[in-house]
Amino acid sequence: MSFLERAAAVFADRPAVVDGARRDTYAQLWDRAQRLAGLLAARGIGPGDRVAVLSPNTHLLLEAHYGVPLAGGVLVALNTRLAPSEIAYILEHSGASLVLVDADYREVLGAPSIPVIDSGDYDALVDAAEPHRVEVADERSLLSINYTSGTTGRPKGVMYHHRGAYLQALAMAYHAKLDTSSQYLWTLPMFHTNGWCFPWAVTAAGGVHHCLRKVDPGAIWAAIGREGITHFCAAPTVLAMLAEHPEAHHLDHVLRVFAGGAPPWPSLLARMGELGFDIRHLYGLTETFGPAVVCEWQPEWDDADPERRARLIARQGIANVIAEPVRVTDPEGREVPADGQTPGEILLRGNDVMLGYYRDPEATGNATLDGWFRSGDLGVRHPDGYVELRDRIKDVIISGGENITSIEVENALTAHPDVVEAAVVAAPHDKWGEVPVAFVSLRESAAAGEAELIEFVRSRIAAFKAPKKIVFGELPKTSTGKLQKNVLRAKAVSE
Ligand code: ATP
Repeated sequence: MSFLERAAAVFADRPAVVDGARRDTYAQLWDRAQRLAGLLAARGIGPGDRVAVLSPNTHLLLEAHYGVPLAGGVLVALNTRLAPSEIAYILEHSGASLVLVDADYREVLGAPSIPVIDSGDYDALVDAAEPHRVEVADERSLLSINYTSGTTGRPKGVMYHHRGAYLQALAMAYHAKLDTSSQYLWTLPMFHTNGWCFPWAVTAAGGVHHCLRKVDPGAIWAAIGREGITHFCAAPTVLAMLAEHPEAHHLDHVLRVFAGGAPPWPSLLARMGELGFDIRHLYGLTETFGPAVVCEWQPEWDDADPERRARLIARQGIANVIAEPVRVTDPEGREVPADGQTPGEILLRGNDVMLGYYRDPEATGNATLDGWFRSGDLGVRHPDGYVELRDRIKDVIISGGENITSIEVENALTAHPDVVEAAVVAAPHDKWGEVPVAFVSLRESAAAGEAELIEFVRSRIAAFKAPKKIVFGELPKTSTGKLQKNVLRAKAVSE
């Protein structure tokens, strides 16, 4: 929180937030954050009370990341793509006392039994409120509850603490090399874990937050040109949309992009490199305040040819600067050898790990092993200390006793020039137990058919790993642009 107070002193009249026609300086942002805290206090919010927000990336949601903690409250930022019943479940489960809502989402919010502040009234109410602040007594106290998207079951409330959030912000400022010239575009929803990575990081460095209501490749290209955007984060599928867009052109300034949330494929990274994007790769989970592993670039990689460069970036990295070294263990909990080939589960520990799941000690216990957080992801250790992610454990396809990682099949498919993106899941099979089935979206003018693509995969990886069937069409995605493999898995079973 002191990030904003300090920024208001150091960068007082410098721009802090751009949201449509609205442009606020750091002094104004600090003033508004304190007044928002005053507004909340006047409505009865005190230490520990949960304040929900339902909004896309606007100045309201950004201010809530300062104003709610300043009031001593706990921020519950809601996913704008949830159905009314899911929103009602989270409001009830979190015990929220008040909700701030963007006018466009009023209908989906319905009529909750708690007070609602609408964005139509919000600015005037904040301006009229008295400044207020509550000191943080314990840095491990609850800051926010971030509900998972529920692709793996019922949404779980990930509990964030102040210490993790401020250290993660510093880690991101360091890894992203943020400074006063940084123009950060809010492409990823702030209501996800990103809300505790970059809002405080950009502010600490005195950069500018550019709000974007909707992830639209045309709008991103326009903002890059108009505002001189220097940083943004995106899931690989969003990068694929950018690379395919008619406005795609070679950049004339340095733009650092963090790709994460899902495995980026080498051919996409090579394409983004050709367009001049400086891509970095991040791996993490909601439970780890986002990025736990970062692609720490080695100077000798600078000379790598584009293909090797893309492979190096697609390979994972090393624990972020505030995290403990990553462990990769076998089912008995023993560390696997650092030979670049023996897989095990990735375990994480450090300042960037959640307090636990809200009101769910059983799920918290299941996710923890001797004080380490179990990621549910399969990785290998390299001799140089780098960790490479292989797949989600539940996405590994076991066919005739052989393990096939969905990512290796997807990488083989996306190496084909006609393929935009690919997702591979297991389908049940009488003889082999499971077989890989691929869902593929093709370039507009593409001619490749099922047989050609299967043959192409067989020419690159072992024949038994090739998909037994390919379904063509648009792929379903989450609000962060991640492929919804749970939806595809159900489809593979029904087909
Ligand atoms: P939910 O927990 O809500 O059901 P989810 O598992 O997608 O959904 P997130 O915390 O958003 O929740 O995603 C974390 C997972 O995303 C990781 O466990 C990992 O499988 C995947 N992931 C994240 N970053 C990367 C990456 N860089 N490469 C490959 N996979 C990644």
